[in-house]
Amino acid sequence: MPELPEVQTIVNDLNRKIKGLTITDVWTDWPKYFRCSFGNFKKTIVGRKIGKIRRIGKNIIFDLSGGKEILIHQKMTGHLLVGSWIMDRGKWIAAKKGPLAEKVNGYIHVMFIFGGNNMLALSDLRKFAKILAVDKKDFENLEDVKNIGPDPLAAGFNFGDFKNLIMKKRGPIKKVLMDQSVVSGIGNIYSDEILFAAKMHPLKKAEKLSDKELRAIFSATKKILKKAIKLRGTSISDYRDTAGKSGCYSEARLVYRKEGERCPMRCGGKIKRLKIGGRSAHFCPSCQKI
Ligand SMILES: [Zn+2]
Repeated sequence: MPELPEVQTIVNDLNRKIKGLTITDVWTDWPKYFRCSFGNFKKTIVGRKIGKIRRIGKNIIFDLSGGKEILIHQKMTGHLLVGSWIMDRGKWIAAKKGPLAEKVNGYIHVMFIFGGNNMLALSDLRKFAKILAVDKKDFENLEDVKNIGPDPLAAGFNFGDFKNLIMKKRGPIKKVLMDQSVVSGIGNIYSDEILFAAKMHPLKKAEKLSDKELRAIFSATKKILKKAIKLRGTSISDYRDTAGKSGCYSEARLVYRKEGERCPMRCGGKIKRLKIGGRSAHFCPSCQKI
């Protein structure tokens, strides 16, 4: 699932590529994405101009003219791709060769069409993505956004806020960091990378962290997420950017899915993997202390 850096990369791309365009049509072959009805969704958005695109946690929000908003959560396998496609026997085929014509092609289930051959496709192998359109005035009350914790990269988010949120929770710090109601946008990849940078064992209890340890996690969180945005995210599973290209943090990562490899840059121990609440944690047992 894309995490904060991947979603931010997509948001940055979308602002560059489709802001200001008017939605002239929308197509789907999977109406189940749309909670009420696809007909209503279409009626709500067609003819509206796309304003700013932003991120709340892992959700992508499109401001539309006329006080409407679209929310998209890509979930496990969703990719938002900008390009040009042609309908051929019920399937969308990329108009040009390149990353957009590769494997994501066969899984396009929603297509937003703008003027001049510009399109935004949702390719989604497992069809778990979420899409909805709402009135701007109702947006803050949506279940999907109202329980989401603060953004760790928000300008006003400081150590005091971080500490208060973490200290309210109990249990392994890895699990607490991934809890979207504590801070938003951190998942399996970046919680592993953050805890390695902060030299913290993933099973260390959140309620037992000292101020010094919390500070190390707080500063690693900002540092790692910023670096991952700069490198356009991680494509270890199937994340792709809006051009269908992979992110480069995959090469910069130090522990995530590196089980059995040597501890990079530090002690030379071996990276181990353990299960925490159904998710895998990758860490160095000799320099990440519990
Ligand atoms: Zn180590």
